[in-house]
Amino acid sequence: MATIRFFGAAGEVTGSCFLLSFDGRKVLVDCGLIQGTPADEARNFEPFPFSPSEIDAVFLTHAHLDHSGRLPLLVKRGFNGPIYCHSATRDLCDIMLRDAADINEKETAWENQRRERKGLELCEPLYTMADTERTLQSLCPLPFSKRYQVQPGLELQLQDAGHILGSSVVELWLHEEGVERKLVFSGDLGHRDAPVMPNPVRIAEADMVIMESTYGDRLHRSWDDTLQEMQAILDSAAQSGGNVLIPAFAVGRTQDLLYCFGRHFQQWGMKHWSIYLDSPMAIEATEVYSRHPDLYDAEARHFYSGGQKPFSPANLHISRTTEQSMAINGIRGGAIIIAGSGMCDGGRIKHHFKHNIWRDNCHVIMVGYQAEGTLGRRLIEGAEHIRLWGETVRVAAQIHTLGGFSAHADQQGLLDWYGGFSSRPPLILVHGEEQAREGLALQLKKRHAARVIRPEYGQTLEV
Ligand code: ZN
Repeated sequence: MATIRFFGAAGEVTGSCFLLSFDGRKVLVDCGLIQGTPADEARNFEPFPFSPSEIDAVFLTHAHLDHSGRLPLLVKRGFNGPIYCHSATRDLCDIMLRDAADINEKETAWENQRRERKGLELCEPLYTMADTERTLQSLCPLPFSKRYQVQPGLELQLQDAGHILGSSVVELWLHEEGVERKLVFSGDLGHRDAPVMPNPVRIAEADMVIMESTYGDRLHRSWDDTLQEMQAILDSAAQSGGNVLIPAFAVGRTQDLLYCFGRHFQQWGMKHWSIYLDSPMAIEATEVYSRHPDLYDAEARHFYSGGQKPFSPANLHISRTTEQSMAINGIRGGAIIIAGSGMCDGGRIKHHFKHNIWRDNCHVIMVGYQAEGTLGRRLIEGAEHIRLWGETVRVAAQIHTLGGFSAHADQQGLLDWYGGFSSRPPLILVHGEEQAREGLALQLKKRHAARVIRPEYGQTLEV
């Protein structure tokens, strides 16, 4: 009998990791990093609740670190098999996992200097660049919509999940003792009608579905409203004469913004602005997006085929080096600055806050989720002062929240996607906080009479 166990993203939104055992074999779907408070992140160092060397293969839904970020650790601790993913996921992992290893090594070196001064025992990084190199070599890139036999009795097909470039719904067919069973893992599902990415592919057949529920209890504002809101903010920012700061995640959100600035260039009066993309990782991720026009939705493909570069509005300035980034500090008005980190806790955005946020003609636009405890969250909650490198800085800028730019399906999107299954298979909800799972489960039962399971961490279910 096949079983599935939940070792992450069960009642929380990070650390995705599901173990499937059947016919004497073990495979994982995702092996993501646990993100959040320092106590949450310390859990990444704990042993895996299975032996990595016993895992035969991994199926990776997409490149975001909460799905891919512990793969180098898995390899470091003995996993030696193939990691199947979409080819764009491979390209994005090449950037993101290297960046993660680089941060691990630098932070550990810094921490060890501190420990050495105090005479404490030295610590090891979660994984190194060498572990990441070995992981990247194990990635087996596949296209969408093609069914492969990856092992005897195990078939795999990836379908476009429409969340970020290469993001996949994983369809698995298990053959055991003459019986075929089909499991479908949603991964992260995209937001319907979002720019650039197509809508998530709907699937008709499954014996069991494992679905995300990040925004299971919420509805996003419509795209039309979101675009109008952006235009209104840019109009008012143009009148006040200052700069606009947009903290953004390097993969997904940044490309959506660049695309929208180009697409609405006339309408939004973009010729009056200079746009600065001030993030080496976002620049690299944008290059990956530019190499995969076949994965865009119809509108973005049309825009592209008209000779437009979809992520290069006419007034875009690329800022790769520290010197280029520091040069932006002297600009007093007319600049739209896109920089990381998305939740404002690190990266170059903090430098731009230091130079702008105390000016009352500055506007900050939050386009992504701001988790509890982050600097971004304090700003949207109306903080009057923030601390930057030990200095107290007044917040005089106007802070705007544009919720509609989410890369995740909302409650309606999740209900619609599940509604695509003709046989109403049992449904396991993962990747959502308890309140979101509960809200979604209620609607799924009401509208689709679905049998909904909400597993706990470590729980085993028969498939
Ligand atoms: Zn994701």
